[in-house]
Amino acid sequence: MRLTVPSEPVPIQEISVDNNIKLFIKREDLIHPYISGNKYWKLFYNINRYLDKNPEKPYIITFGGAFSNHIAAVAATGNAAGIPTLGVIRGEELRDKWRDNPTLLFARRNGMNLKFVTREEYRHKEKLTEFLQLEFPEALVVPEGGTNEEAVEGVKMMLNNQTKDFDYLCTAVGTGGTIAGISKFCEENQKVTGFKVVDDDSLENKIVELTSRKNYDLIDSCFGGYGKIKDENIRFINDFKEKYGIPLEPVYTGKMMQKVFELIDEGYFPEHSRILCFHTGGLQGIEGANLLLEKQNRNLII
Ligand SMILES: *Cc1c(COP(=O)(O)O)cnc(C)c1O
Repeated sequence: MRLTVPSEPVPIQEISVDNNIKLFIKREDLIHPYISGNKYWKLFYNINRYLDKNPEKPYIITFGGAFSNHIAAVAATGNAAGIPTLGVIRGEELRDKWRDNPTLLFARRNGMNLKFVTREEYRHKEKLTEFLQLEFPEALVVPEGGTNEEAVEGVKMMLNNQTKDFDYLCTAVGTGGTIAGISKFCEENQKVTGFKVVDDDSLENKIVELTSRKNYDLIDSCFGGYGKIKDENIRFINDFKEKYGIPLEPVYTGKMMQKVFELIDEGYFPEHSRILCFHTGGLQGIEGANLLLEKQNRNLII
């Protein structure tokens, strides 16, 4: 199986917040039930080109944390395509309790083999990649978060004639591949706004390497750190779903939309701006987040 381009584009929905601003959201989360959002497009050329080479023993190896949307997407792709997959997971302590983690359980159920490594080993992923590539010379090794040149090229598919109609294109930023693709392939007159959910100073340089343009701004949207969820985030996500009927998750899209609303309030966007936010998916993460919140006796994401 190859990843295909759906015949119908995903919907762009209007969100009314302020009379002077037009805000829309592109539902990339609806692209596929399990290979969700930007991860679908980031894997698109990586996997299709690999399969074009007709490997005798196809194998996909990748990396991620315990709640990684990318791990879930690769596992589901492998399952659908009939390709065995290996996920190198950060955190040795998970080896005996992966069943308690919905993302890892999903990955296992989709046939992914899990290799748990210490945080120290994980930090030296390049070494691990070298070893694994020696052990499995035919394997496709996809980096953490799926970000590489093929991924950036795939993100172009998130843009079409409809998206040309907006002044601002907004996306959450993790490893930077998605914003790099949007920046590289959008129109000359469009501005790109990235909502950084990781506190990583090297991100700017990574993005520069992947796109040749400087048409984007990065806005700090960490809200206390990557994967950290504040009560105000939960309230925002639940209100948003109630009001607009659109689910957001707490790691990326929830923080981006909350920040977009704040920026609109502060007058960051000029009057009559047309803003398009990409819903990059990742809704599988809600279950895992709720398990943690439940343990802490906190309100859950509805
Ligand atoms: C991975 C992910 C992102 C970040 O994409 P990058 O290309 O790593 O910056 C944004 N939103 C969701 C839902 C994601 O899963």
